[in-house]
Amino acid sequence: MNHPLNSWAARDQASVLHPYTNLAQHAETGPLVIRRGKGVRVQDEEGRWYLEGMAGLWSASLGFDEPRLVEAATKQLQALPFYHIFNGRSHEPAIELAEKLLSLAPAGLSRVLFSNSGSEANDAAIKLAWHYHHLIGKPQKRKIIGRERAYHGVTIAAASATGQVANHNGFGLPLPGFLRTGSASHWHDALPGENEADFVARRARELEELIAAEGADTIAAFIAEPVTGGGGVFVPPDGYFAAIQEVLRRHEILFIVDEVITGFGRTGTLFASERFGLRPDLLSTAKALSASFLPISALLVSEKINQALLAGSATHGPFAHGVTYAAHPVCAAVALETLRLYEERDIIGHIAQVSPLLQDGLRALLDHPLVGNARGVGLIGAVEIVADKAAKRHFDPALGVGARVQAAALKRGVILRGLKGDAIAACPPLIIRPAEIEELLGALRGALDDVQ
Ligand code: PLP
Repeated sequence: MNHPLNSWAARDQASVLHPYTNLAQHAETGPLVIRRGKGVRVQDEEGRWYLEGMAGLWSASLGFDEPRLVEAATKQLQALPFYHIFNGRSHEPAIELAEKLLSLAPAGLSRVLFSNSGSEANDAAIKLAWHYHHLIGKPQKRKIIGRERAYHGVTIAAASATGQVANHNGFGLPLPGFLRTGSASHWHDALPGENEADFVARRARELEELIAAEGADTIAAFIAEPVTGGGGVFVPPDGYFAAIQEVLRRHEILFIVDEVITGFGRTGTLFASERFGLRPDLLSTAKALSASFLPISALLVSEKINQALLAGSATHGPFAHGVTYAAHPVCAAVALETLRLYEERDIIGHIAQVSPLLQDGLRALLDHPLVGNARGVGLIGAVEIVADKAAKRHFDPALGVGARVQAAALKRGVILRGLKGDAIAACPPLIIRPAEIEELLGALRGALDDVQ
């Protein structure tokens, strides 16, 4: 498509290297340039408004124009625009945010390590798992177990733990020592006729077998998203994490819980760890931590690991990890205000009220000839597009059916996301209202009709 020479689109094509974008296709079609936001909607450069059914990147929890967050940022910019927390320096927003996070966090977590992104938080978690075992005299415990279909980010360790080959190909990843076990998606990965309980038992057995084959004394940590996001939106079957955690505990393998998407209400509880009974040694959060108004991530660290780090300072020297913008004061002030807003506006109560509309609406789409599965929890969900429902057969990937549904929904004014394997995801801002959920679902059904 030829864009006018000086349009934002043409300038974008001549200058921006886009993440996670088919670059050849982009050179043809150009970008969707978004210029402003209001509530759950964003507007493009031609003035069209869209309902943002993905909250941007599973992240803009309070929508796109929250004045309280603008005020919090402005106030902090005026008071102290930057300071760092290396070498024992500190500032009030860092302290207040850490305290607040710990007051909300699952039991047993007692310190907060800040970074800028979910990827960095997960890399930090993996480094801490290595460092912990090193400090307690088990330096050979190094291997990291991730899961197929998982997504943990793009930095070298987080990408290595990610279970999608697209994140490895051409980069020489995963790094040695990154192992993979099966996903928690019963719909995708169950054996013919295998019920959920048997599937869960098999997954626990497979993990046990992997650990036995590698040697428990070589394995540092297991990492998982409570609800898989970018890999396709999978809610684990009942009992899955109880069975997995039992195996991890027996072999003294740390549990890294990636709550980068699920943290702060997405699944209906503040942390998905509550909903699924998880007891993390390390818990990573980002995205909704600051409602995505500014970049910040937080890794919550267990007291056991904190104690080892503390003792390690005597023998090992300073804890040598951190980024310049860790707990950046403006980002931290915005995150703190975000957490206040969640409480003041009872975001968890709101999600309890509106999420059945989304979940029931997605499941109602099972009557559509293209929808083979509908799933989700809280305000995250997906439908799976299939060519044959009974055989769970997908369309030929070359047809790009998921991308076509995504494009058709966009034409109807709703932003959804076509994931690999032809799942269409919805993950709207947490503030979404019932009429907006109806609008989202209507556009999704219409888009499915359009490509049928
Ligand atoms: N973990 C999960 C579950 C994610 O969904 C993402 C990003 O989508 C990440 C980690 C990486 O976060 P970031 O893109 O902020 O590095």
